[in-house]
Amino acid sequence: MSQDIWLPDGIRRPSPNFNLRPDPLMVDLLVIHNISLPPGQFGGDDIERFFTNCLDHSRHPFFKEIEGLEVSAHALIHRDGRVTQFVPLNKRAWHAGRSVFQGRENCNDFSIGIELEGSDNCPYSPQQYQSLAQVTCEICDYYPKITTDRIVGHSDIAPGRKTDPGPAFDWVRYRNSVASS
Ligand SMILES: [Zn+2]
Repeated sequence: MSQDIWLPDGIRRPSPNFNLRPDPLMVDLLVIHNISLPPGQFGGDDIERFFTNCLDHSRHPFFKEIEGLEVSAHALIHRDGRVTQFVPLNKRAWHAGRSVFQGRENCNDFSIGIELEGSDNCPYSPQQYQSLAQVTCEICDYYPKITTDRIVGHSDIAPGRKTDPGPAFDWVRYRNSVASS
């Protein structure tokens, strides 16, 4: 039926952690996250390993804590701006968890999840803002229902439970770069 949607400039690293959306045409939310593995450390490919169930959980105490979790995001933007995509946009990635947006629960059903390699209080890189703006525009071309008021942080849809992308994320800079590109 419908073809899988991959971002044009992303490195494809398919994850098994996805399933079908209840309504493939109902995609109207973009969720911005952050992740770093181990927390606060950047570089390497542990995030890719985590999202593809290939992480060696004996390598770090924190990796023990997340053992058995099956999660993913549609894409990850590395510190240098590279984009790795794990799940086609039309499929349901497992990034939001328990969540609600304007009274609708289970945001994974109708959202796209983008991870920035980073942590809540560490400034994101210029390359990340640049790639995120480009990826956002590509996503909005595929899904015009994602208007600017439907781009949120994980902390917005899971308040009290999640804090990402954190105070370090410059929403004004991001929104301006999307508007001007
Ligand atoms: Zn998150």
